[in-house]
Amino acid sequence: MNFRILKKAKRGYGRLGVIETDHGVIHTPSFVPVGTQATVKGLTVDQLRSLGTESVLCNTYHLYLRPGDKTVKKMGGLHKFMNWDRPIWTDSGGFQAFSLGAAIEHGVGKIASIFPGRNQKDVGEKERVIKDGLTRITEDGVEFRSHLDGSKHLFTPEKSMEIQENLGADIIFAFDECTSPLHDYQYTKKSMERTHRWAKRSLVAHKQKEKKQSLFGIVQGGAYKDLREISAQFIGSLSFPGFGIGGSLGKSKKDMYKVLEWTMPHLPEDKPRHLLGIGSPEDIYECVKRGVDTFDCVLPTRLGRNGNALLSGENLNIKSGRYLKDKKPIDKKCKCYTCQNHTRAYVSHLFRANEMLGPILTTIHNLFFMEELMKGIRKSI
Ligand SMILES: [Zn+2]
Repeated sequence: MNFRILKKAKRGYGRLGVIETDHGVIHTPSFVPVGTQATVKGLTVDQLRSLGTESVLCNTYHLYLRPGDKTVKKMGGLHKFMNWDRPIWTDSGGFQAFSLGAAIEHGVGKIASIFPGRNQKDVGEKERVIKDGLTRITEDGVEFRSHLDGSKHLFTPEKSMEIQENLGADIIFAFDECTSPLHDYQYTKKSMERTHRWAKRSLVAHKQKEKKQSLFGIVQGGAYKDLREISAQFIGSLSFPGFGIGGSLGKSKKDMYKVLEWTMPHLPEDKPRHLLGIGSPEDIYECVKRGVDTFDCVLPTRLGRNGNALLSGENLNIKSGRYLKDKKPIDKKCKCYTCQNHTRAYVSHLFRANEMLGPILTTIHNLFFMEELMKGIRKSI
């Protein structure tokens, strides 16, 4: 992978760039749609290409459990398996192991409120909260049970590298622990230090195999200024070709912007920065200004499947009965396939009749909206 900065914004820290991989280029700032199970739900790869999508991010945890990374490898790797010839990213599997893996026993770790809304109070080192799911975190890695069949698994940095190598994405991530906004300072610090050790182990495991993949390191440290600075300095000093900013970004958007302001100055300027799991249109503007190059998020596709069409103002709940006689497209100004060919009335009807085309058409609109948004941002830089 090669990253070139083409231009820097006059104000703020935004940059225009291009990531070059063996499977083509990603123009940055870029939004990366999520294809959890080696598919961006509901869309063919031709449809994705026609939307202008340059890369997709697949989930290591899901593909490891099903169909299995070894199966994907036998099928020629993710690109061949899903017939997507453009760049692919995979995450480390850590986040899903914590959030989806069920309980093994009450161990050293605690992952309280990666499960949103279950616990509203701050969590101290000795408290563990989750009713139906606890994952055990040790120095070695993360033990968890599959959410599919309850089988027991262990993810370590070495295992995550092995799985991601079998999957064969262009850009992969170091194994990390994602803390929650409710974790206290002491736990976040301890976890960050472990993530740093895991980052080194990920690098060693990755180097040994001399793969063509680019391994990105992940900065942690929660919403604590000194921890973010320490983490960015440490991870930034290792020989990663790019960086992910992960973990808790605080409890509000303001916190998130602060986290970025603390982190960015300590990362090498000439390497790409990816913000994990963030992707609402208003966040993207603010994060690009603070120096983020790429984003991945399930939001646009999940909203689309649920009947929420992205608009520059408020989202449109296309399922609502009020659109059943509306002859306008979802967005008059939009040039996407859906808006060029169908009325709100039709899409609304499809949702209300539980037809699969409804979610597909709205997903097409939403991903096109994100592409246009990013084009606009790139132009403005
Ligand atoms: Zn549209």
